[in-house]
Amino acid sequence: MRNLILGNWKMNKSSEETRAFFSEFKDLFSNSKVSFTKSNFKIGLAPSFTSLESAKNEINRNLKNQVLLGSQNIHWLESGAHTGEISPQMLKGLDVNFTIIGHSERRQFYGETNETVSLRTKAALENNFLPVVCIGETEEEYKAGKTADIVSTQIEKSLAGITSSDISSGGSLAIAYEPIWAIGTGLAASPQDAQKTHAIIREKLSTIFSSEIANNTPILYGGSVKAGNIEELSSQKDINGALVGGASLNPKDFFDLINNAKFPDS
Ligand code: PEP
Repeated sequence: MRNLILGNWKMNKSSEETRAFFSEFKDLFSNSKVSFTKSNFKIGLAPSFTSLESAKNEINRNLKNQVLLGSQNIHWLESGAHTGEISPQMLKGLDVNFTIIGHSERRQFYGETNETVSLRTKAALENNFLPVVCIGETEEEYKAGKTADIVSTQIEKSLAGITSSDISSGGSLAIAYEPIWAIGTGLAASPQDAQKTHAIIREKLSTIFSSEIANNTPILYGGSVKAGNIEELSSQKDINGALVGGASLNPKDFFDLINNAKFPDS
């Protein structure tokens, strides 16, 4: 199973709002009789740390095996003097399946570097979480035609020190290509442009690891994905899903987006 649609709630929703989201989301599921366990993709949501427990309880109660749970970060150490960070052990107790690493907001505003992304990724793999490693170019770099160089360098450095056996014995790997100019702007990359960059990313993964790992790694597109553009994006050969911000906050928007996804059978 390579295709994934993951929501990133960022710094939104209290525990109470999380419960309300899941209650409405579960009703949409049961009314439509859709079972995503039978689709060729999986879905997941990454709430804030304070809402992980409510989300876990809601999923276990009503949507077991239908929705993956994710965190928005992970530290590489078990414990210690790291104010504001969260350890793999803390996430384990919350039934977390995946973790978003190196989101552009963390890289831009909170000092995340390729080096810390690789430490976090290694820790995620060692603890059997699926790391969703985010990369993407700025608008300036895009306009200067530097996308391929930027994403290749980010991949290489963000995955430095990670070996093929870390991936195959660990939680496996996912990459999210998120052009920074497309995040939260309503201006998504064209499916053709995104496909082109995804193919470059896959080629790079194949050079670093192997073609088998490259082919088994979901490469998600992120940046203004909505119900209206997911169909064309998800039908591209190398786009194996989406990382969704704004459109994952409302149960109906997220549900419509999921329903419109059309991945080629994999
Ligand atoms: C994101 O933050 O990862 C994102 C893609 O946001 P949005 O969907 O709102 O553009």
